[in-house]
Amino acid sequence: MYLVMLGPPGAGKGTQAALLARARHIPHISTGDMLRGAVSDGTDLGRAAAQYMERGDLVPDDVVIGITRDRLKASDTRRGFLLDGFPRTVSQAESLDAILAETDRALHLVLNLDVAEGELIRRLTGRRVCPKCGETYHLVFSPPRALGTCDCCGQDLVQREDDKESTVRQRLQVYQRQSKPLVEHYLQSGLLATVDGVGTVEQIHNRVLDAIT
Ligand code: AMP
Repeated sequence: MYLVMLGPPGAGKGTQAALLARARHIPHISTGDMLRGAVSDGTDLGRAAAQYMERGDLVPDDVVIGITRDRLKASDTRRGFLLDGFPRTVSQAESLDAILAETDRALHLVLNLDVAEGELIRRLTGRRVCPKCGETYHLVFSPPRALGTCDCCGQDLVQREDDKESTVRQRLQVYQRQSKPLVEHYLQSGLLATVDGVGTVEQIHNRVLDAIT
């Protein structure tokens, strides 16, 4: 299946996309993860993207569309894929259709995780990540066993630069302005399935599985 996971920052896209991709044996393609990888590797692409990401703005389309097109050329995406964080604008959605059409593919379904704004701010500002192994925690919902330390590798946890409150508010505004119209776009094309994103990880995963069957 060729799938997209939509939702505002903090809706749990990354968590749910990883679970769904594992359950369906398809690659989980996160443009945010690819861009963060490029930033930490110090590549030209990473240097170009970093300034936008730190401010909570969208990285320019040519950069993001380029890395997504390259990734979707890989043979492991032929049987299926789950895109997380792409598309984020209607113009990226149109580019995605064109990229897929080049290889006679088309999207099957667009999942939209729905979470109210107050809850998003609470979730994002409490998120902590391990800079070494990538494990994610939350100060309230899933704290590490020892405060500030990764359970898996003992590294000090950090707050993502773009999870600081002022940047979170900026990211939510960007979402409202640039990404929310995508929900309408996919509703019109009959591909949208909206899933309630409030509940335990397992409850939401089960709703996602129901939505794709
Ligand atoms: P995420 O991990 O999906 O929240 O993405 C983190 C950041 O990466 C975003 O705030 C953007 O700056 C950038 N980014 C990720 N995906 C895209 C995209 N499709 N278009 C533009 N910027 C993106």
